[in-house]
Amino acid sequence: MIPALPPLRVTRSSHPEYAAPFSTRPVMAGGVTVGGERPVVIAGPCTVESREQTLSIARACKKAGARMLRGGTFKPRTSPYSFQGMGKEGLEILAEARAETGLPIVTEVLDPRLVELVGSYADVIQVGSRSMQNFPLLTEVGRYGKPVLLKRGFGATLEEWLYAAEYVALGGNMEIIFCERGIRTFANGAYDRATLDLAAVHALRRLTPFPVIVDPSHAAGHADLVPDLAAAALSLGVDGLLIEVVQPGADRTKVKCDGEQGIVPDELASIVARAESEAALRRGPLAPVASNDSDDGRAKNRRVELVKQ
Ligand code: PEP
Ligand code: MN
Repeated sequence: MIPALPPLRVTRSSHPEYAAPFSTRPVMAGGVTVGGERPVVIAGPCTVESREQTLSIARACKKAGARMLRGGTFKPRTSPYSFQGMGKEGLEILAEARAETGLPIVTEVLDPRLVELVGSYADVIQVGSRSMQNFPLLTEVGRYGKPVLLKRGFGATLEEWLYAAEYVALGGNMEIIFCERGIRTFANGAYDRATLDLAAVHALRRLTPFPVIVDPSHAAGHADLVPDLAAAALSLGVDGLLIEVVQPGADRTKVKCDGEQGIVPDELASIVARAESEAALRRGPLAPVASNDSDDGRAKNRRVELVKQ
């Protein structure tokens, strides 16, 4: 059993209409429903580096079946000497990519003073792992009111993550999407970059009715690990994925940020297909059971159905 938390605005106890285990209160952003029947694949470059790079990746993501476009223009870089992002110019490029592809935009805000600016372009405002406990920032995005994608701090517990979301909810903004992106354990970059905490994803989905998505890219650190981590997350029934994409044939060493972990559009298309088949599976014989059925019963039914297939 998961220890009881005091009732929070972001926990199930405050949403009696979503009392059923794993039922989700959807978030609507730019015409896309996160937390509906189909997992939403959000894809795009780590960083907006140029108009050409972003438009070409956005078109490829659209073609591969992604339903939202990601891309950072204010980048939280470990070193102050690293490329910090294109700022407002990058937001303009994202807006152009949205106009052309129809994909809503997810982009990060780092500074409470820039919430208005970033929010005026973004369909979903991302709060990054390093900012999860920037309380003034959380308060500001809560006040601003646009949907928020709240990444888990890589050193944060599940409770700290929920309390971070509570800051957003306290501002009156309930349009919150949680995103697990890996935590620091023993990963040292040799074969992964962070430890994707799928057990916490499962626990969180019980505790909150808000959508929970997974970012396999920042956990993997290497492109070849991304598809399997994405598949593992999908098998838990997550509401979406956040994935970094590079241009086919790109020289990864020249990509300004996270070049090693970006997958190519063909790999993205396979992940989208997997997300769709997982959703079909859940709509069919494995559809969620009625609210009075126990979680254990649900898991057992699922195993029985899988064995039958
Ligand atoms: C990102 O998604 O662009 C990013 C910076 O990720 P994280 O905050 O999880 O490190
Ligand atoms: Mn990145």
